[in-house]
Amino acid sequence: MTHPADPGCIFCKIVAGQVPSRKVHEDDQLLAFHDIAPWAPVHFLIIPKAHIPTLYDASDESHQALLGRMLWLAPRLALQLGVTNGFRTVINTGPDGHQEVGHLHVHVMGGPRPWARG
Ligand code: 5GP
Ligand code: ZN
Repeated sequence: MTHPADPGCIFCKIVAGQVPSRKVHEDDQLLAFHDIAPWAPVHFLIIPKAHIPTLYDASDESHQALLGRMLWLAPRLALQLGVTNGFRTVINTGPDGHQEVGHLHVHVMGGPRPWARG
């Protein structure tokens, strides 16, 4: 199953370079960039480049490896950004999960407390 870019999706636009972002990491499958409204001193998002709307849609076998890589990357990128004392990883799914952007993403939040939120 392929996931073509959704022209109305803000994160697809970031993947395509049509909307600027402060990139943390990029490879052939994944992109990580700083959240525009951070809850913590360090708050970045890890997304698949493919337009997978939610965790419900991560259904292919290939998505298992993708999800694994997203979580595998989280501590490595956190350390690169100086986050050595722990962090939160959050994935919001669907309306009841308060997912605002319909393109799968993992929040990674860390840095010294207090935080703005969370
Ligand atoms: P959600 O509520 O869907 O889990 O989180 C979406 C996140 O995307 C929010 O934390 C929000 O601040 C962030 N966000 C929304 N639009 C943009 C954008 O254009 N650029 C960046 N860097 N972050 C965004
Ligand atoms: Zn998208």
